[in-house]
Amino acid sequence: MTAPAALETRGLTRRFGGFAAVDGVSLALAPGSRHALIGPNGAGKTTLVNLLTGAIRPGAGAVLLEGRDVTALPQHLRVKRGLARTFQINQLFPDLAPIEAVTLALAEREGLTARWWRPVRAHRALAEEAAALLARLRFAPAEMAAPTRDLAYGRQRLLEIALALALKPRVLLLDEPAAGVPPEESREVLEAVAALPRAVTVLLIEHDMDLVFRFAERITVLAQGRVLAEGTPEAVARDPRVREVYLGE
Ligand code: ADP
Repeated sequence: MTAPAALETRGLTRRFGGFAAVDGVSLALAPGSRHALIGPNGAGKTTLVNLLTGAIRPGAGAVLLEGRDVTALPQHLRVKRGLARTFQINQLFPDLAPIEAVTLALAEREGLTARWWRPVRAHRALAEEAAALLARLRFAPAEMAAPTRDLAYGRQRLLEIALALALKPRVLLLDEPAAGVPPEESREVLEAVAALPRAVTVLLIEHDMDLVFRFAERITVLAQGRVLAEGTPEAVARDPRVREVYLGE
């Protein structure tokens, strides 16, 4: 028997009024894969991500995490089952250094924040874990210790990813991780993500086609709420329907 998909949807449908923003979408992320979701504005990408995380409920269809149906689970329980998405940095404390923010996130996950009097030793171990996590995302020691507000924008986006990774996800949803990042930094962001351990399956939602084709092993193309095409970057780039709808050719 082959392993179940890391994340799967079956006939997922969500209507707003009479309008189907997501219309019978079935997709499957292979365990450990780097998968991208693309599509023109209004294709239903944001709605689909919100259905995956549990922020909104489908009218029909199912979401499965490692083969288990999580359609009825609220967001926090999906996170507990291993599904994480990036946070928006502007919800964070700009005065905190990345090492402090990630240590706090790890402590939160371990349930240590409510017990601040716990031995310092426990926190030291978490700080070491935080440093290792940030190093994996190519933070230099000086960058880990600087206030977040002083970091380059690309580094701030990587900190968002670090905070999601602190939840120890099996599946990571990255919603436009390079949005607003200068081109020379955005490649760095995606390269750091591509170098994550294969224990984490990644779904990237991204507008920048260059980044998508550099990063993804599989691409799902949405258009008008439906899956228009699914396959390797090469196959998707060649598909005349995709070129017509998405690339405007
Ligand atoms: P994308 O992220 O691909 O741009 P969205 O998921 O944001 O697409 O939107 C898909 C379609 O659903 C759009 O036509 C949008 O106007 C509509 N839509 C999204 N959310 C709502 C909502 N809460 N109420 C009504 N229509 C919505």
